[in-house]
Amino acid sequence: MRPITRDEVRGAIVNLEPAEKRVRLPAWFDDVSWHEIDYLGWRDLRAPKRAYLVTATDDQAFGVLLRQAPNHAFLASRAMMCDLCRSSRRFNEVSLFTAQRSSRDKRRRLSARGLHLCTDLDCMAIIRSKPVRQSIDSSVEDAIKERSEGLRSRMIAFIRSVAEVEPTTL
Ligand SMILES: [Zn+2]
Repeated sequence: MRPITRDEVRGAIVNLEPAEKRVRLPAWFDDVSWHEIDYLGWRDLRAPKRAYLVTATDDQAFGVLLRQAPNHAFLASRAMMCDLCRSSRRFNEVSLFTAQRSSRDKRRRLSARGLHLCTDLDCMAIIRSKPVRQSIDSSVEDAIKERSEGLRSRMIAFIRSVAEVEPTTL
């Protein structure tokens, strides 16, 4: 992804509650290798179940605040698929996160969108290490670029769906 500024990150989160103060950026923000990642993902160290994801197109940054739901032991034998990188992993390596919709309307505020996501927010490592079945007309770089673009467009679609204003029924 392209490099984004701290202000862009802060302004990108679509579902911050007005009461929530400011987005705490990761301490390693200045060391991010932007061209090697598909999204900036980090946890709030003071509230580790809260995670932020931010990505960007050429002209806009998109971000969301997520809360990690507890993993259920009864799922232990199952593989889980991450909705962003589409990798199947062990059950505790993928967790359900929810994005609460930020709204003054109480009914809408209660609605949340769920996302299964790599628990360590490490989709970028996964899509770069998964083997590529090479064909005559596609190289490893092309395959990884395609995965990266797919991941980011799924993520933006999810964030847009969180931000979306539902029609009010009167
Ligand atoms: Zn993933």
